[in-house]
Amino acid sequence: MLINIKKILADNPSPSTYEGTNTYILGNENLVIIDPGPDSDKHLSKLINYIGKRKVELIVATHHHADHIGLLHKLSSIKNSPIFIGRGQINTFYKYDSRLEERCSLFESTILTREFRINTIHTPGHSSDHYCFHIPSIALFSGDHIMGWSTTMIRLPDGNMRDYLESLELIKNLSHEQILPAHGEKILDGKKRCQQLIAHRNKRSLQVKNTLKNAELNLSEITEIIYGKINKKLIDYAKYTLEALLENMIENNIIKKEKKKDIYYYSIK
Ligand SMILES: [Zn+2]
Repeated sequence: MLINIKKILADNPSPSTYEGTNTYILGNENLVIIDPGPDSDKHLSKLINYIGKRKVELIVATHHHADHIGLLHKLSSIKNSPIFIGRGQINTFYKYDSRLEERCSLFESTILTREFRINTIHTPGHSSDHYCFHIPSIALFSGDHIMGWSTTMIRLPDGNMRDYLESLELIKNLSHEQILPAHGEKILDGKKRCQQLIAHRNKRSLQVKNTLKNAELNLSEITEIIYGKINKKLIDYAKYTLEALLENMIENNIIKKEKKKDIYYYSIK
């Protein structure tokens, strides 16, 4: 089976989106769109140009962040195409834009289109409503769960490190020819990338453990020790993900936290 896959990059580069959000358009005549992208007229006209007179059979999105579903309602209205969402996306999507409710139907574990079948995989971690879309022996569309250029950001309370690691385990063993992320280039060895990401988290946990060996430190102090001098714009993202890791280590009884004058201090348990 050969499926035509077109990637259209949105013009929203930033420290958290890399070069911008990738919108994927799949199929020949009956198109499926994954992650319409940010609410940008320029991006919308790029999509409309590519689509031309063809039918958009359905639209899905990996999660509710604005750089993924900003255009969702507009595109769905213009092309008169239904949106399919997972159960885990009902609250977040409708909260983002209440008008979506009338255009959305629920998907279950698979979506059958006219041209192919997509397996939907709930992969919380980056966000609680995150889904990956898998077309066996073609590609895994990984959204922000696995990115092409860096590790993903996990921000509490919607993001969760334990969920993220479980989601990595879940998709590690899928037979994906390639991973197509929402940010960055395609990844050819998906299994290896999952293993690297899991190893990276384990290494960070070890670093935190060593850092806290004889010390009681707050989040800013730990971030500075672990990440060293990094770009100021990136420091907040590093902090969010580190905080999620610290919470996970508390759950695992490795460390504990104590509030002193409104600031949490972390130490070994
Ligand atoms: Zn995101």
